[in-house]
Amino acid sequence: MITLEVRRSELITPGFSRVTLGGPGVRDLVPGGADQAVRLFFTREGQSELRMPTASNEAWMVQVMLMPKAARPWVRNLTVRRLRAAEREIDIEFALHGDSPMTSWVRRVRPGDPAGIFDLGTMYRPSEHARGRLLVGDETALPAILSILEKDPDPPPTEVFVEVAATADVRPVPVPGGVHIHWLSRDDASLRPGARALEAVRDCELPAGPLYAWVAGESQLATGVRRHLVNDRGVPKRDISFYGYWRLGRSAPG
Ligand SMILES: Cc1cc2nc3c(=O)[nH]c(=O)nc-3n(C[C@H](O)[C@H](O)[C@H](O)COP(=O)(O)OP(=O)(O)OC[C@H]3O[C@@H](n4cnc5c(N)ncnc54)[C@H](O)[C@@H]3O)c2cc1C
Repeated sequence: MITLEVRRSELITPGFSRVTLGGPGVRDLVPGGADQAVRLFFTREGQSELRMPTASNEAWMVQVMLMPKAARPWVRNLTVRRLRAAEREIDIEFALHGDSPMTSWVRRVRPGDPAGIFDLGTMYRPSEHARGRLLVGDETALPAILSILEKDPDPPPTEVFVEVAATADVRPVPVPGGVHIHWLSRDDASLRPGARALEAVRDCELPAGPLYAWVAGESQLATGVRRHLVNDRGVPKRDISFYGYWRLGRSAPG
């Protein structure tokens, strides 16, 4: 459990904010891979201090749940977009939506506000024999996808499908040759998050294999892409990393 403080925050596009957290505790975060994630603890509205659990094993959740609600922090999973060890800083990029606990916190943070993190590790582990790569995600997976792309200067042929809520959230991303980013925006609020990305993957020409696929985002996007790759494209399950980052209609626990 590492306690940090907010150094700064900025709006990247209308639907994304970057919050920089810093402090001596950053040295205890062992860099763990391109899509390294953390549990982020932050205050509820009206709380003046952040009460962090102390247990580093799964008992932390019990500790949080036993706190009276008025003293309990919110807990959400986020990706470490950038780690700057020398400056003792990390950046996290938040996909803003509605007035959820996470979005409300991001909109009200000020430099000096407390926040805590707990390392969750990484999921991106390309198979050694892979000759092509597929990266798929919705807006919650964009920070991880950008981090994966940044950390691989000499990538294999890669097709990237990223769905964002609105066209205004599409941003220029410099990529090396052989990497193609396909931006998909929902714009129409009645579309289910992830549906456009899933459809685009179904219709796409995959890079020549053997393939390594990484997919994350709304749970039906993650499972839908995996099912399609296994059943319709013959990709072995072991060559697919998939993670339901969130579930439509369900709040994250904690
Ligand atoms: C390993 C991992 C890494 C992640 N990295 C990031 C990251 O870097 N950036 C990021 O923004 N998210 C990331 N997420 C997803 C994030 O944890 C969830 O979106 C989380 O539910 C947001 O909490 P909340 O307080 O906004 O909403 P919640 O209180 O959890 O949910 C409230 C409502 O909003 C819905 N909802 C949740 N997220 C979204 C969304 N993005 N768009 C529309 N509706 C939504 C829920 O279905 C629910 O109905 C990651 C998740 C995991 C597991």
